[in-house]
Amino acid sequence: MIKEPFDQMHEECGIFGVFGHPEAANLTYLGLYALQHRGQEASGIVTYDGQTFHEEKGAGLVSDIFSQERLGRLKGSAAIGHNRYSTAGGSRLENVQPIRVNYALGTLAMVHNGNLINADELEAYGAIFQSSMDSEVIVHLIAHARQKRLSERIVESLSRVRGAYSLIFLSEEGMIGVRDPYGVRPLSLGKMKDGGYVLASETCTFDLIEAEFVRDIEPGEVVQITKKGVTSFSPFLPTEAAHCVFEYVYFSRPDSNVFGRNVYEIRKRLGKELLKESAVDADLVIPVPDSGVPAALGYAEASSLPYDTGLIRNHYVGRTFIEPQQSIRHFGVKIKLNAIRGLLEGKRVIVVDDSLVRGTTSRKIVKMIRAAGAKEIHVRISSPPIVSPCFYGIDTPTRHELVAASHSVEEIRKYITADSLSYLSNEGMFRAVYNKPLGENTDFCTACFSEKYPIPFTGAEIRQLGLFSETAPSEKD
Ligand code: AMP
Repeated sequence: MIKEPFDQMHEECGIFGVFGHPEAANLTYLGLYALQHRGQEASGIVTYDGQTFHEEKGAGLVSDIFSQERLGRLKGSAAIGHNRYSTAGGSRLENVQPIRVNYALGTLAMVHNGNLINADELEAYGAIFQSSMDSEVIVHLIAHARQKRLSERIVESLSRVRGAYSLIFLSEEGMIGVRDPYGVRPLSLGKMKDGGYVLASETCTFDLIEAEFVRDIEPGEVVQITKKGVTSFSPFLPTEAAHCVFEYVYFSRPDSNVFGRNVYEIRKRLGKELLKESAVDADLVIPVPDSGVPAALGYAEASSLPYDTGLIRNHYVGRTFIEPQQSIRHFGVKIKLNAIRGLLEGKRVIVVDDSLVRGTTSRKIVKMIRAAGAKEIHVRISSPPIVSPCFYGIDTPTRHELVAASHSVEEIRKYITADSLSYLSNEGMFRAVYNKPLGENTDFCTACFSEKYPIPFTGAEIRQLGLFSETAPSEKD
């Protein structure tokens, strides 16, 4: 029997930076607004006005944290910002980024999206840690580095760090953007029409602030933006890229282009591939809103079955997974979604969602649709079974909470009480991503679906992270 899990799966972070624009703080505020889906726990902005650094941080949503007054205090033409959902470290205010330190070369602020896998080993380099974030290790390494220039210190420090990182630094000299050599998390460069550059986790931010997309920062690339312009170098040993495929499946906004491809188009194709693999006779295709919408559209389009909105979402409630209180979480799905009885009654319904993690959401949704009178319910998931936790910046539950890690598709079907359940295959997912037949899929990380971790772990890390055990490290301590 599958027991109801109680913990939740968290998201990663969103980062944004502006250099050389008089409205730097306001643009960063807008950028963080567009990246809200990547983290809703806390936000922060640091600016530099040529003399002083300014900082405003808080817990909650971007719109709640930054008042006119607070934005007004963020003076300067350079700014970096961060939306947080903790993947490491608790939710204390010290854990809200940007991280800011004073060191031998001046002041340095940094934002990080990703997760370091050898942070524990490197903690010895931090004299006094103010936060419990793995990201703080990086600034301590930079403070202790021997090189004279900041960019060299960053490289020296990052060469000791392993894991996933997209980073933006702000110093007196300018802004620096870095992506880890595997390019796990996205980071793109944009240009403002009236001068200045922006760096962002996702390109949907550029549309909002009317920045022109310049290019993605390459894996392992260090981009420096100063008054003199943009310079770049690639100091790390080249390696095979390992872009997170889950950015396409769930994380990124559909209107973003991530790793050079449009997310919406890929999600639609995921739905089309899903139909090819698991067509079923039915009256209606409905999505689980909002994350399942593009795949359901693709599925319906390819099947010629009618597509409709069987579930209505209350948009004023955060994502199911983000509510902190136990009581709210318990009611999560009901608060957020409701079924339309008139549409579903007596129908054979195909329900499409992007992913199935613990199975609790699908179970509640199936029950809700059944209660609305549906005759048959066929659940279709537009990604493969999630069998392994992520250690590169997505706070996936421990292995024992991932329902597909220890249960067959048939067992999961019974648990969610559906008439049928099908996932997309790995091959189908890659056909959708590449839009061509399966070749050598070497430039993606699929660890959550395949257990193949592209960034190698040492024995100590495997123990620390509880990588191949059934329980989380904290549960063992
Ligand atoms: P469950 O199977 O109950 O754990 O939840 C699956 C639902 O969670 C799907 O609708 C996904 O869209 C959504 N989801 C998948 N991954 C995440 C994540 N990392 N954070 C929040 N929601 C997620």
